[in-house]
Amino acid sequence: MGIFGFLYKWRVLTPLAPEETSANPVKLQTDKEMPEGILFNKCVFCKEGQVKVQTKKGLFGLTSQQIIGCSVCNTEYIPIGKSEFGQDKFRIKTKNQNFKETLYDWRVFYSNELIVFGKGKNNPIVEILDEMVSKKEDGIDKIDLNVTFQSIDNTQGIVLEKDENVYYSESAALLEERVGRSYSTGYAGVRVSKGVFLGGSQGQSEPTHSVKQLDAGSLSITNSKLLFRGSFKNIQILPKEIISLNFGKDYIAVGVKNREKLRYFTVDDGLRPYVLIQAMTKKVRS
Ligand SMILES: [Zn+2]
Repeated sequence: MGIFGFLYKWRVLTPLAPEETSANPVKLQTDKEMPEGILFNKCVFCKEGQVKVQTKKGLFGLTSQQIIGCSVCNTEYIPIGKSEFGQDKFRIKTKNQNFKETLYDWRVFYSNELIVFGKGKNNPIVEILDEMVSKKEDGIDKIDLNVTFQSIDNTQGIVLEKDENVYYSESAALLEERVGRSYSTGYAGVRVSKGVFLGGSQGQSEPTHSVKQLDAGSLSITNSKLLFRGSFKNIQILPKEIISLNFGKDYIAVGVKNREKLRYFTVDDGLRPYVLIQAMTKKVRS
C-alpha cells in the first residue's frame, strides 16, 4: 500500500445497536506490564468494586496474562493506548448483555477521569449513561446534557480564541458517503439511521451507500468549534453550521449547512464527541 493507499480504503461503520456489541473483538494495543494491585478505586459500571490488575498464570506457569477488572462485577478494563493528550485509555467490556450493560459496553474512559471518579467526583459519561439506563431509551435526545467536562491540555497546538478551551482531541479519520451501484448478489449492510445502510449491498444493481475514507488526522472539540486536522484537509465546523448530528459506537456523523453529504469522523467511542458537540450547540443556541 502506497502513501495514498488509505484514500481508496472503504470502511464499514458500526452503529450503536445493542445486538452489535458482542461482535466486536477488542484488540489489546499495549503489551506493557502493569503493577499488580488496585488501579482505580471505583468501577464506573457497578460503582462498588475496585479495579484491580491481576496476573493469571497459564499452563505450568510459563505464560501469564494480565487482566484489569472490577472485583465485584468483573467488568474488564482493557488498555487501548494513550489519548492525544497523554492519558491512558481503557475500553470497558461488561460480562452480560442486558440493556444496562450493553450501554456501558465498549465505552472508553481516560485514566485521569477514572482516578477522580474513584475519589468521589462525577464522571460526565457515567452520568449520561446512568440517565440513559434509567430512562430506558436507546438514544440521548431527551437527556439533560448539562454535565461538566474538564478541559484538556491543548497539546495539539490549536489556535484558540479568548475563553476557548479544548474538551476533546483524538485521532480520527474523515469519511464521506458514496452512492454507487452494486452488481453482486449483496451482503447485509450496517444500518446507520432509518433507511441508510452503510458498507453493504442489497442485491443486484441496487444503489448502495458506502463510506470512503478521505483523510486521517485528529478531531478536536472546543467550546466553540469542531476541528478536524488531517494530512490533506483542515475542516472547521462551527455550532451554527451543524444541522444534524448522529453517533455510533465508533463514529459521529455531522450534517453541515449547505452540504448535502454527511461528514463521518471515526473515533474510538462516538458517545463522548456526540455529547460534547450537543452541549456546544445547545449552549450557542440557548
Ligand atoms: Zn464493577
